[in-house]
Amino acid sequence: MALIGTESTAQPPLSEPVDWRQHAACRDMYTTLGKEDPFFPSRGKADVVNDKALKICFACPVKQECLDYALEKREINTGIFGGKTPSERKWLYEKAQKAKGIQKQRRKRRKAKAS
Ligand code: SF4
Repeated sequence: MALIGTESTAQPPLSEPVDWRQHAACRDMYTTLGKEDPFFPSRGKADVVNDKALKICFACPVKQECLDYALEKREINTGIFGGKTPSERKWLYEKAQKAKGIQKQRRKRRKAKAS
């Protein structure tokens, strides 16, 4: 995701109730990673550049929060979020949608039985 433009580089302790992005491993990395943003590489460079991003995500303390955010906001078509590529996120998103559909059907059936 490469959180560009955040103001402070100080990392607050994880126990503090601050936005999870404050703890992102990719925070403020735009200037140190070179011209190509590994989280949103240009076409044709995705495979090579994404590896850099995935290595950064691997050690990120807010990987799950980042992935949850991406799935909630339907960020499934481009970039790296939560250590997952677009195709991995798309698979997770569709799986979650399918599970929601199944739960909805079960609730409907239970409701129908009860009435
Ligand atoms: S999981 Fe990756 S993209 Fe998400 S905040 Fe961490 S380093 Fe950035």
